Amino acid sequence: MYLPESRIDGRNRLIRQAELMAGRREARPTRRPYPKPKLHTALHFPLPMPSASLRLAVIGAGAAGLAAARELSREGHAPVVFERAAAVGGTWLYAPPATASDPLGAAATHSSLYASLRTNLPRETMGFLDFPFAAGAAGSEDPRRFPEHEEVLRYLDAFARRFDLLQLVRFETEVVSVRREDAGRWAVTSRKLGDKGSGEEEVYDAVVVCNGHYTVPRIAAIPGVNAWPGKQIHSHNYRVPEPFLDQVVIIIGASASAFDISRDIATTAKEVHIADRSAPVDTCEKQPGYTSTVAKLMLKLQIDRALEDGSVVFQDGSSIKADVIMHCTGYLYDFPFLGDDSTVTVDDNRVDPLYKHVFPPEVAPQLSFIGLPWKVIPFPLFELQSKWVAGVLAGRIGLPSKDEMMGDVKAFYSKLEARGWPKRYTHNFSNYQFEYDDWLAAQSGHPPVEEWRKQMYAVNAKNKKDRPELSRRVG
Ligand SMILES: Cc1cc2nc3c(=O)[nH]c(=O)nc-3n(C[C@H](O)[C@H](O)[C@H](O)COP(=O)(O)OP(=O)(O)OC[C@H]3O[C@@H](n4cnc5c(N)ncnc54)[C@H](O)[C@@H]3O)c2cc1C
Repeated sequence: MYLPESRIDGRNRLIRQAELMAGRREARPTRRPYPKPKLHTALHFPLPMPSASLRLAVIGAGAAGLAAARELSREGHAPVVFERAAAVGGTWLYAPPATASDPLGAAATHSSLYASLRTNLPRETMGFLDFPFAAGAAGSEDPRRFPEHEEVLRYLDAFARRFDLLQLVRFETEVVSVRREDAGRWAVTSRKLGDKGSGEEEVYDAVVVCNGHYTVPRIAAIPGVNAWPGKQIHSHNYRVPEPFLDQVVIIIGASASAFDISRDIATTAKEVHIADRSAPVDTCEKQPGYTSTVAKLMLKLQIDRALEDGSVVFQDGSSIKADVIMHCTGYLYDFPFLGDDSTVTVDDNRVDPLYKHVFPPEVAPQLSFIGLPWKVIPFPLFELQSKWVAGVLAGRIGLPSKDEMMGDVKAFYSKLEARGWPKRYTHNFSNYQFEYDDWLAAQSGHPPVEEWRKQMYAVNAKNKKDRPELSRRVG
């Protein structure tokens, strides 16, 4: 059963929501009035003044870029969406790595999806606020609550078609440079794929960056690894388990990818050891729920060092001879097209300074970032950020002064420090994503995120923690 008995009210709400999505019930009119947008008294806009129709460059046509394009168009702006790929979908466009010669690098492939990937969020929670990710909707082929990755791509494609967004996208066109001009405008240089020239430069009133942050691998530093004879690979370049047949594989990390990939590889490998720095001391056990007789799945402490004879030593002094180290260690924010004058820097995965993770105060609102937060439900968050950006650019929603925005950023950093969070957790939203979503919603005059979505997210998180091997089998 998906919910504990004690949460029967929430369960009824979920069932009702599922019925609504399946068209079996009529939607009740919302009882809660839309909150009034909160406008700041001290408004600050660098030139050119925001206005009803601006020419805007959106970089990327993944879920964030599509949400931005839709909201910017709805506000009456004229967005041009630059997309390096030949289709929309970003991360959800599954692709084999472009080259096997750089298994630790980005290898010119954007997507980090592996073939067996199913969503780790229930589809109901994942969808955009007014475009449900419903099983059985037009184009849907996988009705499961945690569908295969192709279903997400079909959904994003349907979203783009439904809101006429494809006509806004310049496919196979990469933005290579974004440069601030004197009048507060932005020179954007883009190049068609295969074009060897310097590209085409155009001037835009504002730039909205939606380039994703699951492409550039973050690698664990392992003393001695350069002399270790085994193979290293980052999860960005993992696709299928067959190449790991009969091998001893060490997976570094405790993320959703580490969980999935370890189970995937265990179907062919001789042994899979998960090195998790947060593992309880003295733990080295077969993982619960794993039944394969072909492979062993073990939990280990963090790696201490790697040796020339092929051994890998863990922090409890134990060691094993391994063939492969798989880094499931996350990704780095990267904006190679932004020059030095964009006023943001990236240090230890903090994109700095950004007011509410979106606007660099110095150049707000002419430069903005959609989609930086992680440990979130991404699509609704992208949508709410996009509504806010679109409203601010239209002059409908105000921003505080530059100094006030900087003050807010500093106060936020002080809070993180007090909590003992490292810099690289700046955009980690575990615990407060909905507070943030609802703040954005209030700014834009939109209702808060639905209570059923919040509850379903919480129940899913608890299921994943309590019954990791079973959590996707419910529904
Ligand atoms: C392995 C994995 C599993 C995930 N599972 C889930 C899940 O179950 N549920 C969920 O909701 N989310 C999941 N996510 C998160 C997922 O990344 C987000 O849902 C979302 O797709 C991110 O969208 P985005 O638009 O921010 O970035 P992306 O999808 O990465 O899109 C960015 C786009 O920008 C383009 N681009 C980049 N640079 C340039 C340039 N210079 N010029 C032109 N175009 C450019 C890229 O080609 C790409 O199309 C997962 C992510 C990963 C990596």
